[in-house]
Amino acid sequence: MNTKNTNPDWADRLRPETIAIRAGIHRTQEQEHSEAIFPTSSFVFDSAEEAADRFAGRVPGNIYARFTNPTVRTFEERLAALEGAEACVATASGMAACLTAFMGILKAGDHVVASRSIFGTTVQLLGNILSRFGVETSFVPLADVPAWRAALRPNTRMLFLETPSNPLTEIGDMQALADLAHVHDAWLVVDNCFCTPALQQPLKFGADLVIHSATKYLDGQGRTLGGAVCGSTELLNSGPRNFVRTAGPSLSPFNAWVQLKGLETLGLRMERHCANAQKIAEWLEARPEVARVYYPGLDSHPQQALAARQQRLPGAILSFDLHGGQKAAWAFVDALRLLSLTANLGDAKTTITHPASTTHSRVSPEARAAAGVGDGLLRISVGLEHADDLREDMERGFAALVAR
Ligand SMILES: *Cc1c(COP(=O)(O)O)cnc(C)c1O
Repeated sequence: MNTKNTNPDWADRLRPETIAIRAGIHRTQEQEHSEAIFPTSSFVFDSAEEAADRFAGRVPGNIYARFTNPTVRTFEERLAALEGAEACVATASGMAACLTAFMGILKAGDHVVASRSIFGTTVQLLGNILSRFGVETSFVPLADVPAWRAALRPNTRMLFLETPSNPLTEIGDMQALADLAHVHDAWLVVDNCFCTPALQQPLKFGADLVIHSATKYLDGQGRTLGGAVCGSTELLNSGPRNFVRTAGPSLSPFNAWVQLKGLETLGLRMERHCANAQKIAEWLEARPEVARVYYPGLDSHPQQALAARQQRLPGAILSFDLHGGQKAAWAFVDALRLLSLTANLGDAKTTITHPASTTHSRVSPEARAAAGVGDGLLRISVGLEHADDLREDMERGFAALVAR
């Protein structure tokens, strides 16, 4: 095999932009330059003895694609290198990654403390499904460290959060929560979907596991579902890896390949996503129709300093409150012609949602108000279009408010 410019053993000394393009490559005898896709469910053995050795783990090598696949492994190695992690297990979706982390390291009788402002489906997974298997979860306000401390129990094994939060971009103090977790012999697990390793590496702040929905920025163009769990080899081998092999939420090689190519441009894309978001946030903040803008890159953000400590850039998810409640928000959205009204985020295409009537519609109006998700709130995942075109489209939204 030609090993020239394949996965270098000095990869840990490379800079992130280079790792995103070079890490994890194991070139075949065909000498392909671009990473190959291996759409095969199983792998052959040269002899009965070799089959026995591979099954017994005496000899490394592929057996079956639910366990390992070369394309998936390249994605895992590259993402692990970007997160500064020893290892990574890829999964079929972001929710499969959450499930893998939970099922991989928790057991009946364990307790989880989770941020109240995590992805809605993750709330359901913990609150409605894991609870049936004896894992109980307490939900606390993300930015309130004393509330996390107060929620700890002798059987608390995991603290779980996303930062910045969706849709209000609150910031969780990862170092403080990691310290809290470790004093209590618990793990800190961070869903790093919104920042990606290009902006934030939770392991550096003491997190034990990092979760991704690769469906979002890692793919970056809204094509595939995927996910991953990154962390130490020891922790991943203690349960999560075996959970994927056994329960089967394995990433498909095609999706791994798409996401692998996505990683090559991740840093570039995140810079443009953030630059566009900063422009849009500042522009929205100056509009008289807007009561408040939530974006960690604004001086008005109460946790701007903490965000700057944890993140290289403020991210590209922002929210704003329109005067006039749901009527105004719906009129604004319905007047848009460019921004996509869709639930996805982290796409090259800018997307907008009205959380109160969609992602948060199952939450009672009182609980929504307490969480700060007002009826006039709109969330934008700022894409890669020209910022002026985005602003011109949103002018249509503002014009519709006057017309009402
Ligand atoms: C979308 C999302 C998930 C779930 O990912 P899927 O790939 O849709 O399963 C989990 N966490 C966050 C923060 C997300 O945005």
